[in-house]
Amino acid sequence: MRYLIIGGGLAAAKAVEGIREHDREGDIRLVTEEEHLPYERPPLSKDVLQGKAGVESVFPHPRGWYAEQGVTLVLGDPVASIDPVGRTATLRGGGLLPWDRALVATGSQVRRLGIPGADLPGIHYLRTLDESLALRARLREGGDVVVVGGGWIGLEVAAAARAHDCRVTLIEPQAAPLEGVVGPTLGAWFAQLHDSHGVQLRLGTGVVAFTGNGQVNGVVTEGDVTIPADVVVVGVGIRPRTDLAASAGAQVEDGVLTDARLRTSVDGLWAAGDVARWDSTLFGRRLRVEHWANALDGGLAAGRSMAGADVIYDPVPFFFSDQFDAGLEYAGYVAPDAGAELVVRGDPRANEFMAFWVVPEGSGVRLLAGMHVNTWDTMDAVQALIRRRAVLTKEALADPSATLDELAG
Ligand SMILES: Cc1cc2nc3c(=O)[nH]c(=O)nc-3n(C[C@H](O)[C@H](O)[C@H](O)COP(=O)(O)OP(=O)(O)OC[C@H]3O[C@@H](n4cnc5c(N)ncnc54)[C@H](O)[C@@H]3O)c2cc1C
Repeated sequence: MRYLIIGGGLAAAKAVEGIREHDREGDIRLVTEEEHLPYERPPLSKDVLQGKAGVESVFPHPRGWYAEQGVTLVLGDPVASIDPVGRTATLRGGGLLPWDRALVATGSQVRRLGIPGADLPGIHYLRTLDESLALRARLREGGDVVVVGGGWIGLEVAAAARAHDCRVTLIEPQAAPLEGVVGPTLGAWFAQLHDSHGVQLRLGTGVVAFTGNGQVNGVVTEGDVTIPADVVVVGVGIRPRTDLAASAGAQVEDGVLTDARLRTSVDGLWAAGDVARWDSTLFGRRLRVEHWANALDGGLAAGRSMAGADVIYDPVPFFFSDQFDAGLEYAGYVAPDAGAELVVRGDPRANEFMAFWVVPEGSGVRLLAGMHVNTWDTMDAVQALIRRRAVLTKEALADPSATLDELAG
């Protein structure tokens, strides 16, 4: 069997493990666009960016591991097209690779701003290791840093820039950071967290232009206010890199559609990680998430599935973030139209609390998602409650004396 893994992120690295669990002999080729070995991205906005961890910390496997697994690595030469009938892939450099089963693990790419001045030097985006290292070098020089976008990446970059003692302004068009994801109450908590660590927040306003002459020196917001900037970091979201799979004929709808075995609509082609929108039995809908754990578990599951194992991929999505002294984890999925209500356990002012998103069910409520801040070892119970579709009461969820393990049963 000839396996082709397309991508150089965590999903690709884990797919090798999944294949090798079930097929010790098959020929595996892993092709990635970047010159690096497959790597994981969370440290790029945290420990690597802050200078607390070295580059070596991002690689799930050293080079020698791939050799031990009999994997041929093709670095820096992306797949340009896939022929699903002839079962070949053409590389940008012209090479032709035959395959029997292929995995699309092409991840995501950042959304770029198209406003005046957007091409000025000094404006950074953060997706790759090289971008993280370039930004780290710049943050070490200090000065005025403007972060555009109050999502997860923007908030983590703001925290890292403060760790480098930069003056930091964060601009977010919504009334609070992450408001669209966690709602106004928790959005206000994130605003307070960053405010208390010296981040200047400009909320409820968008960016309309960048100023500068050969180098960015300012960010213009709606209302024509110019904020001085030596460095700008834009974090305004990402989009899945579906083009390759789409051109091979795979069905795409904000992600490459897969079944619960991570098989796409094209025979012999699988998808996993950020790019995949899998069929979740648990949530009764197709899901696509941009989470580290989904690359980890989905990549592994796809590899197993490709090697013939009977795999059903049906996780409770899981996400984590670190900002200043707040470590947080989030598990579950809340559809935008779910009409979920927020229940808080503990005191957010103490920087140790949990939050739950619930919907009415029977005589109580059902948990859709839960998050904690510095309240560790709680996510297994949250995931169990979600998976069991347990009917709970809001009072029990809000009561810190009732342990979640007890509720999960
Ligand atoms: C800075 C940062 C911080 C993050 N922090 C967190 C966090 O704290 N918690 C969390 O849960 N998630 C976090 N994430 C999200 C998480 O890293 C992603 O969900 C994860 O990287 C997805 O892995 P992937 O393997 O699907 O794709 P990616 O990591 O995007 O990797 C895809 C790879 O495929 C390559 N590729 C694309 N097209 C081709 C082609 N045609 N041929 C060959 N190769 C190709 C790309 O160059 C890339 O190397 C973070 C992401 C970033 C960028």
